[in-house]
Order: sequence, then C-alpha cells, then structure tokens
Amino acid sequence: MSTTLEREATKDQVAEHFDVVIVGAGISGIGTAYHLQTQNPERTFVMLEAQDSFGGTWHTHRYPGIRSDSDLYTFGYRFKPWTSAPIATAAEIQKYLSDVIAENDLGRHIRYGHHIDSASWSSEDNLWTVSATRTDNGDTVSFSANFLWMCQGYYRHAEGYTPQWPGMERFQGPIVHPQTWPEDLDYRDKEVVVIGSGATAATLVPAIADDVAHVTILQRSPTYYFTGENRNLLADHLRELEVPEEWVHDIVRRENLFNLRTLTQLALEEPEFAKEALIDLVRAALPPGFDVETHFTPRYMPWRQRIAFLPDGDLFKSISSGQASIVTDEIETFTERGVELKSGAELDADIIVTATGFNLSVLGDISFTIDGAPLDFADTVTYRGMMFSGVPNLVWVFGYFRASWTLRVDLVSDFVNRLLIHMDELGAKRVTPQLRPEDHDDPWQEWVDVEYFNPNYLMRSMHLMPKRLDKPEWRHTQDYWAERDELPLVDLDDGCLVFE
Ligand SMILES: Cc1cc2nc3c(=O)[nH]c(=O)nc-3n(C[C@H](O)[C@H](O)[C@H](O)COP(=O)(O)OP(=O)(O)OC[C@H]3O[C@@H](n4cnc5c(N)ncnc54)[C@H](O)[C@@H]3O)c2cc1C
Repeated sequence: MSTTLEREATKDQVAEHFDVVIVGAGISGIGTAYHLQTQNPERTFVMLEAQDSFGGTWHTHRYPGIRSDSDLYTFGYRFKPWTSAPIATAAEIQKYLSDVIAENDLGRHIRYGHHIDSASWSSEDNLWTVSATRTDNGDTVSFSANFLWMCQGYYRHAEGYTPQWPGMERFQGPIVHPQTWPEDLDYRDKEVVVIGSGATAATLVPAIADDVAHVTILQRSPTYYFTGENRNLLADHLRELEVPEEWVHDIVRRENLFNLRTLTQLALEEPEFAKEALIDLVRAALPPGFDVETHFTPRYMPWRQRIAFLPDGDLFKSISSGQASIVTDEIETFTERGVELKSGAELDADIIVTATGFNLSVLGDISFTIDGAPLDFADTVTYRGMMFSGVPNLVWVFGYFRASWTLRVDLVSDFVNRLLIHMDELGAKRVTPQLRPEDHDDPWQEWVDVEYFNPNYLMRSMHLMPKRLDKPEWRHTQDYWAERDELPLVDLDDGCLVFE
C-alpha cells in the first residue's frame, strides 16, 4: 500500500498524497476514520475540516439549549457506548466525539482550518486532486488521493436559511439565526419572537423562556412533537444489575431501534391513528381548552418530516406557565417594532429569531471536475445513496432522515471498506458506478419521493440533488433495517460497479 508520497500538482504546488481523503470532521467523518483505520489499517488517510475544531453540527450550533433530538444509543456509534441520558446536549456529544478521537489516536489525521474549494479527478492518474484554502493564512494547499470520502453533511455551515420578508430593514432590533447565534446576545427581560416551530425553535424556546420577558413562537403551520422522559428505564435497570456498558449500549440500541421501527411502520400504515396519538400527547401536556386544533394540528401526515422530541414536554411547560406563547399566522411585513401579520395582528419584539432552517449544500459546495469537465451531481444517479453514476472513487455519507443519521455511518463504512479490499483483490485502481443496460429505460426520479419525506430545506433545493431510479441499487432507500441486512450481502460484481 502506498505511503505518503509527494507528487507535483502544479508548477508551484506540491500535493501531499494519501490513499483516502475524508472531507469533514463531524460525527460522520470521525466515525468513517475509525472504521477505515480499523478495517483497512494499512491505508493512509487525512481528514480535512474547514472549521477550527471537530464535531460539525455540534460545533457550529451554539444557541441556548442546543441538543440532539435522536437518542444517543442510536445516534452514537455502534462501537462506542453511550453512558448518559438518551437526549444529549451539544457539549455532551462533543465530549463523546473527543473521547473517540483520543481513544483511537485520530487527532493526528485531522487538518483543521482547511476549506476545500475544488476536487478534480484525473482518469490518466486515477487520482483526485483536492485544493483547499487554509483559513489561518489564506494559502492554497493541495492533496491527492486515490479515494475521496465525503462526510461534509448536508447543509452550509457558514449561514442558515433566512427568507426575505418585506420591511426587514425597518426592524430596530437584532434579527438572529440560531445557526449563527451571537455569543453576547443579551435576551434577558426582552420580548423575543421566534419564527418557526421545528426542532430548533422547540429546543430554543424553553431554554430562554425563564430569562426573557416573553417569547412568542410564530409559525406558518403546525409541527408534530413527541414527548417523553429523558431517561431510558431499560438502561437504568441494566446498570443497576452492573451489566457492562458495552452490553447496555448494544441492548438499549436494539430496543430503541425496535421501537422506532414500530413507530415508523405505524405512522406509514395507519397515519390517521398515529396523527391522533401524537396530537393527544400534546393536548394532555397543555392546559384544558388550549387551541390545539389551530396550533398543534399539522397539515402533513406524521413522519413526512422529522418529529421533534421534547424531553419532559419542556416546550409545553413553558407555554403552560405563560412565559411562551404560540401564534399561527403569516408575516405581512416587519415593522420598526416587530412584525405585522396577515391577520392584521402585530407582535412586538426586541429580538427576532429566524429558526427557519438550513441552506442545503450538495457535497460541501465544492467545485468538482472529471478530466477537466465540470461535474453536476444533479446529472448523476446515486448508487445506493452513497456513490454516483459516472463518478469514480468517490463516496458520500448521507444518513437517515427518520432514524439517527449515524446509523448509516457504520453501514456505509463497512460497505466501502469491503469495496476497497475488493479493489485490492482485483488489482483495480478505479471503481465507477454505471447504469447497466437493464437500467437505461428506467425514468430518473428526484432524490426522495416527496410524498414520503418533504422537509423544506430539501424541497427548496431538490433540483441540485442526484437522481434515483426505482430500484434498491440506484437509490437511498432511507430504510435502515433493510440496509443493515442487505448491504453486507451486496454482490460487488453485479454489474453496477465497473472496476478498472
Ligand atoms: C441542531 C441540529 C440537531 C440535529 N439533531 C440530530 C439528531 O438528533 N439526530 C440525527 O440523526 N440528526 C440530527 N441532526 C442532523 C445532523 O446534522 C446529522 O445527524 C449529523 O450531525 C451530521 O453529521 P455529519 O458529520 O454528516 O455532518 P456535519 O455535522 O454537517 O459536519 C460536516 C463537517 O464537514 C465540514 N465541511 C463541509 N464542507 C466542507 C468543505 N468544503 N471543506 C472542508 N470541510 C467541510 C463542516 O465544516 C463540518 O464540520 C441535527 C442537525 C442540527 C442542525
């Protein structure tokens, strides 16, 4: 296996060579590095990360209350036990990741402050050349790699999505997006309006409710929520029995996956029943007579978007106490003092928070070329939601929408490590997904079926995403349970992958 060798990229620059370049040191990149190191220990690799630390999402987001909405027994890796309450703060997740890095000596492979701008494939050399800007001194540095492993997540970290409303410039106070929450924002005793009611708003509002004068959630349409205690009784009991943490992790992970599967099936097969059950939970948590019909009865069916989990129903406690309230309406215009709504009502605010979501980023906003020709991923079909037709030696990690994202990090890693070993056995330098003759007449479809899953950030940018065919080989099935059983058995020589 090649060691770090230096090859000339341009007249002035020398590209540092690795067998694998991993893009991003978020939870996907760190998990990928662990599996690569464990399953293919002889391969050299580097992790390039634009930010100055690891964690991705959990490093970027600093708003009050920031936490997971998945349980960490499934959002954590299969190889590293989670030992605390299931729903975790960003700080707890960062500690977990920092332990994984330290325990596996992964830190020496990470280069922080490297923002990748371009990646070019050369079929002559069977190599990717990656160009990055160093954020400390602005220098451009180059890396070459046999394989590019994209763990860049799915949204732009630099800024969140804020719609443009009329009159925004008139508003006298700060307009803040949670993704770029100012550390020194003083919200004590202020009137705050939070636009949006997704997971971010539902987390933020209870976290600030006791400190502000009042916080109002302004939503265009209602969202589903699920409530419960932030503890796992089975885990507590197993710990009482002094069962080793590795076992606790594995058993509780199985239990949570079993429950999630049951809930998902129920929501898909009996959506009306699931809808009523979720709304009943909300009704029970709010004062009698609360207008649940207007504010907590979504127009879409459950599970078409991620369901926000509210530990101990904290959002409903804030609403019940009167510190928080909810308004369902649309914005007509911002004013000097707040927002005017289509109904004619006005909401006064000192601070407006736009919890309005993400800007989707397809493959890290990197400019890709193949043999000098620009590559648009929207012109490709995905191979199993991890590679792309016509794109050699490149894999991306795109997790699950409904189940924990990270479950797929483990599965994709197993698959790709098997693929790398298979390439060695064949003596192949290049693997390229290619539609087979029997696939040519299949209609190309959008990345996901919008009847099935349709969060706003995806709907806004679906045209940028790769396409799928209606076959498991050529789509991201979003089905953890099927992939868990099928991916290890995939025949790598079934004609979808061309080895050269
Ligand atoms: C507030 C919040 C809560 C969430 N909670 C959950 C949850 O509970 N469960 C769940 O399953 N999912 C959750 N998600 C989705 C979450 O983003 C993913 O689950 C997971 O953290 C993604 O990890 P990742 O490593 O793939 O991507 P990210 O966390 O996005 O990390 C990607 C990394 O790649 C780097 N990068 C990107 N482009 C480049 C480039 N061009 N050059 C160099 N580096 C680059 C970024 O700087 C970043 O550090 C949540 C998302 C948010 C925003």
